Amino acid sequence: MTQATLTDADPYADFRAELRQFAEQQCPEELKQFVRSNQKITRNEYRIWQEKLFARGWAAPNWPVSQGGTGWDLQQRYLFEEITAQADCPPQYHHGLGHIGPVILHFGTPEQKARFLPRILDGSEWWCQGYSEPGAGSDLASLKTSAVRDGDHYVINGQKIWTSHAQEADMMYTLVRTSTEGRKQAGISLLLVPMNTPGIEVRPIPTIDHWHHVNEVFLNDVRVPCENLVGEEGGGWKCAKFLLDRERLSPATVPRLARLAEQVEQLLAERRGSGPALPSHHVLQERLYLVQAGVKGAREMLLSAIQEEMQGTLAASKSSALKLFCSELSQQIIGIALDIAGNEYASRLVEGVGATGDVDLQRELVHTYLFYRSRTIAGGTSEVQKNVIARDLFGA
Ligand SMILES: Cc1cc2nc3c(=O)[nH]c(=O)nc-3n(C[C@H](O)[C@H](O)[C@H](O)COP(=O)(O)OP(=O)(O)OC[C@H]3O[C@@H](n4cnc5c(N)ncnc54)[C@H](O)[C@@H]3O)c2cc1C
Repeated sequence: MTQATLTDADPYADFRAELRQFAEQQCPEELKQFVRSNQKITRNEYRIWQEKLFARGWAAPNWPVSQGGTGWDLQQRYLFEEITAQADCPPQYHHGLGHIGPVILHFGTPEQKARFLPRILDGSEWWCQGYSEPGAGSDLASLKTSAVRDGDHYVINGQKIWTSHAQEADMMYTLVRTSTEGRKQAGISLLLVPMNTPGIEVRPIPTIDHWHHVNEVFLNDVRVPCENLVGEEGGGWKCAKFLLDRERLSPATVPRLARLAEQVEQLLAERRGSGPALPSHHVLQERLYLVQAGVKGAREMLLSAIQEEMQGTLAASKSSALKLFCSELSQQIIGIALDIAGNEYASRLVEGVGATGDVDLQRELVHTYLFYRSRTIAGGTSEVQKNVIARDLFGA
């Protein structure tokens, strides 16, 4: 594989063709319809697609071949994301494959690798991330959930919050405090916790989109074997940073935004000729042009960041700028969809009426609009991204 850019005569032509054929033939039509209609993807839809990818040997685009991954470079991973997004295949579930999987690959014991990695690959075991707490989000190192050693177990007490998919997960990777001595980062450890351990209570957090994403997770005298400690005791912050450094550049976001912008364009064209008159078609069209330009710009920036990442020269400010820009862009795109759908859809959804029944793209886009309010918070708020950019550029 050469290191040519994607805009050169295409060295990836065969690879693209293979991906397209796979996406066309192997992703079931009902699943594509589900994704196309913007419904909330749950464990079931992720699992169906993961099983197809696993059978093809493409379960883990970001893992080395020796561990069951594809060994693809970042450009190939981008093409995979772009082509599968265009074909309305679901995204892959990131908590296992993108987050804890690479951490176990790097820091895990041979037993941990043998126990956990195969089930991430085939999609049979699901993970959630127990990092944030009521008093520790942006300032994660302030976390207080404690783990105290008792023989060959840790006993965990505390509370996690905003834990996505905890209600569907088999396992949680969680940061806990094993010491209050020294720098607050130094007393943090990373534990792998089976969600069926006695003492764990998952409570849903209702959100305005009426979808169930996030939860509170209470841990009361939860006993976890010491063999579930990843890395050294007190080495959890290193694992957490490793995860953030590797995953700060996600090739998946931009292709999904591009597909969403296409859908919104199509919706605007359809609504032009039917239904109640749109308030200001030309204004919507102009906004659409601007977000389309934004998507194209984000794609170029992502591709150049990918090149730099492959050469080891990517600056933290660039990946934070991309995260910041794409979060805001996603809200702008879906804001156009909301204005096309109109007040009637929005108010019906907020009142909770119409949240069930037949699938209706405009209604699902309103769900997505409401969910996307969280885009500028989850995975690091926009203000925190601006801090990273300022520190990197100005040494602030
Ligand atoms: C939909 C969703 C899913 C999530 N999923 C998970 C998950 O699966 N697992 C998990 O562990 N967490 C998850 N989170 C939590 C997420 O990581 C935190 O919400 C995020 O890090 C912000 O932390 P916080 O909510 O405590 O807000 P805070 O950190 O309290 O921030 C409050 C406000 O102050 C601003 N602020 C804070 N510090 C600074 C600063 N230094 N400079 C300038 N402004 C600042 C923030 O930008 C924000 O506007 C999720 C959140 C959401 C919304």
